[in-house]
Amino acid sequence: MTSTALRSVGEHAAAVAELLHRTPVQRQPLAACLGLALAADLPAPIPLPPFDNSAMDGYAVRAADVAGAGRSRPVELPVAHDVPAGRGDAPPLRPGTAHRIMTGAPMPPGADAVVQVELTDGGTAVVRVFAPATGGQNVRRAGEDAGLGAVVLTAGATLGPAQLGVAAAVGHGVLPVHRPPRVLVLSTGSELVAPGTPLAPGQIYESNGPMLAAAVRAAGCEATLAHFVADDVAAFHAALGPRLAGTDLVLTSGGVSAGAYEVVKDALRGHGVHFVKVAMNPGMPQGAGRYLGTPVVTLPGNPVSAMVSFEVFARPALLAAAGHAVTHRPRVPARLASAARSPAGKRQYRRGLLAGDGTVSLVGGPGSHLLAALAAADCLVELAEEQTEIAAGTEVTVHLLCS
Ligand code: AMP
Ligand code: MG
Repeated sequence: MTSTALRSVGEHAAAVAELLHRTPVQRQPLAACLGLALAADLPAPIPLPPFDNSAMDGYAVRAADVAGAGRSRPVELPVAHDVPAGRGDAPPLRPGTAHRIMTGAPMPPGADAVVQVELTDGGTAVVRVFAPATGGQNVRRAGEDAGLGAVVLTAGATLGPAQLGVAAAVGHGVLPVHRPPRVLVLSTGSELVAPGTPLAPGQIYESNGPMLAAAVRAAGCEATLAHFVADDVAAFHAALGPRLAGTDLVLTSGGVSAGAYEVVKDALRGHGVHFVKVAMNPGMPQGAGRYLGTPVVTLPGNPVSAMVSFEVFARPALLAAAGHAVTHRPRVPARLASAARSPAGKRQYRRGLLAGDGTVSLVGGPGSHLLAALAAADCLVELAEEQTEIAAGTEVTVHLLCS
């Protein structure tokens, strides 16, 4: 097959994305929402902050009363009241007095500034103020972060720590989110042995399953890792069949390339799954389709191929199905630290480490078995289909894996 007969990366990505439907919306408590996508715009039912409050521990004053204060000419004010955080009945501030106030406490009516405690003698009956204040100084205004009714998060937002924080801050304890897609991960290969057990000659440890299940979970989806199966069509069907119900995506690895004993191909060809060659390196052999109605994406077996294919095809499709507005990793331009070669007509994804100066170094060679190199990388370096000899210093696109 010539390179012109290969399916492009974009075409295969679209074919995989088309398989998955958007998952239904559920209401979930905040603690269950990490990594999920918000299903509707979220307005603030209260302003944020909810009331004018102090940004400092110090003294609430009228700025005019301390206008002339200095180190050598402190202004003395009687301290009328204490206003700790949570006090809702702070009495009004009379001219020529101060209230001792703590961070987050409501501004007393009549006060227009806070002098931080470090600029005073800290007095409790009378305070000596050593610096002037301007109106509004150290005051956090109601609604300055988000006004009443303002949309603080938009539909499709990925709910990370800060997003959950702002949802809580405006009083939402439960959020509408898309149900995380349920993914079944199934590895194939008669050479596979579970980690933690002895290896016989010719055997290797099963690494794709734990890796892909983790990748699915890291994308905010639910993963079920099935026990791997030997290169045996009957065993494959026996493992898959009972698990199809309730599964949004089956993700297999191995058994799709050009050799004999290609169990996934043998089991699913002619049953709604199409096996193709994609103009990509690593990860040329791919498959996608619906088996008995359930979306299936068949990844190649080499660990780096499996992981890169997951990143390029499965992850964006899963994120879209889960309702996320952003389905791709952050991409940045970077300059190659050293020269590289890439096969003509294929988009190559090399493993890289991005430096602070905007250069990216390749980690390990192009081999799709180099899993330790993948584990040492923090990005995928995209080398375009038409690039073959790439000089050091060339600008390339880097996909950040740590987000
Ligand atoms: P395959 O696509 O099944 O021909 O496998 C290609 C290469 O990936 C072979 O070297 C396999 O041993 C290896 N491989 C396949 N599946 C796994 C797995 N689950 N864990 C580790 N290596 C695997
Ligand atoms: Mg195999």
